[in-house]
Amino acid sequence: LRRPRWTGLASVPESAQAAPAWHADGLAHVWLPYAQMKTAAPPLPVAATRGSRIVLADGRELVDGVASWWTACHGYNHPHIAAAVARQLATMPHVMLGGLLHEPAARLATRLAALLPGDLDRVFFTDSGSVAVEVAMKMAVQYWINSGVRGRTKFVAFRGGYHGDTTGTMAVCDPDEGMHRLFHGLLPEQFIADLPCDDESTAALDRLLGERADEVAGIIVEPLVQGAGGMLFHDAAVLQRLRAAADKHGTLLIFDEVFTGFGRTGTMFACAQAGVVPDILTLSKALTGGTMPLAATVASRRVFEAFWSDDPMHALMHGPTFMGNPLACAAANASLDLFAREPRLAQVAAIAAQLTEQLAPCRDLPGVVDVRVRGAIGAVELETIDIPALKARFVEAGVYVRPFGRIVYLTPAFTIGEADLARLTGAIVRVLGTR
Ligand code: PLP
Repeated sequence: LRRPRWTGLASVPESAQAAPAWHADGLAHVWLPYAQMKTAAPPLPVAATRGSRIVLADGRELVDGVASWWTACHGYNHPHIAAAVARQLATMPHVMLGGLLHEPAARLATRLAALLPGDLDRVFFTDSGSVAVEVAMKMAVQYWINSGVRGRTKFVAFRGGYHGDTTGTMAVCDPDEGMHRLFHGLLPEQFIADLPCDDESTAALDRLLGERADEVAGIIVEPLVQGAGGMLFHDAAVLQRLRAAADKHGTLLIFDEVFTGFGRTGTMFACAQAGVVPDILTLSKALTGGTMPLAATVASRRVFEAFWSDDPMHALMHGPTFMGNPLACAAANASLDLFAREPRLAQVAAIAAQLTEQLAPCRDLPGVVDVRVRGAIGAVELETIDIPALKARFVEAGVYVRPFGRIVYLTPAFTIGEADLARLTGAIVRVLGTR
């Protein structure tokens, strides 16, 4: 076997740099996503997680600046979630939903319906954000077919948008990302707008829908923050205009809250800040507090009713084996308990204030284009970026911050606490100031 050499960090004693054998063996077999370049540094061997920290195999602890990509909102290993999953594991780890319905899924759907605005009260469970959006797209297309309307198969999607990695969802991601070119012929041609998500675009959108609404199944957008596309913020008013355009031209509005759901932008769901109720809404990431794979596509009553029929061809054509897995639903119920019992949204507000103050010095650093903060989201946009070099510098500084695109993201656990957050922001200011 060809074993990649573990390139440890200069600040770590030589003895601690040897990667464990499982790491070297695994690197020869585990296929990791994106940027698997011959020249890239190997992934860090991680042994455990604790609170807002990642424990490496050599014992070093890194403060996690991204909460495992926006999932672990209560910090890692929360005992309340761990206990709920352990109890569920002892009773019923899995049965497939369909002819059977279990209590954890029933309770979770009931609670989500109560938390979400308007009549978003039919919850379809899957197991990842991409699949939740894929289902939302199928739901929208089939909604029109079931309603006797043909030809509405496309989506208005936005520049900078990211909705997942399945072929359906890639078709509504920002076309500039190159995926559209790379997978030409495999991706459905469903993307029909290339507008930034801002006020001006809503007028262009109105014109576009005026001409092509009869092709459009729905408008899909990440409300308030386009996350993976570069933490691009827009005003709540944009969402109100999208709702008005969807109503005027008779199409569906889909909010992808896979990233923004569960408090990240300051309210439990981003749509609440605009007072807008979409027709379909997707959730995943922090749904289980970042512990188990679970996702939900939530439909309004109007959408659901188009599927409620004696005609089997009207049923939603999707049924994954592990949908609504009981362990994952138990974790999500425990996560919702924590939102109810603990001051999570107050913690998000405190993080926003601390990020605003402590990232401010970044504005004066050379090569910094912008610094943005909204809720528990911080983003430093750079002119140019050397991702492997920055990653290594951050690890040296004792923090795990993964730059992506031209952005250094800061999306910590809501429970991170002042000291660890200061360590993160301090590392960012220091590392970016000495590039
Ligand atoms: N939608 C949004 C808004 C996301 O941010 C992501 C992931 O980052 C996805 C969908 C895809 O989710 P997953 O990675 O769980 O498939």
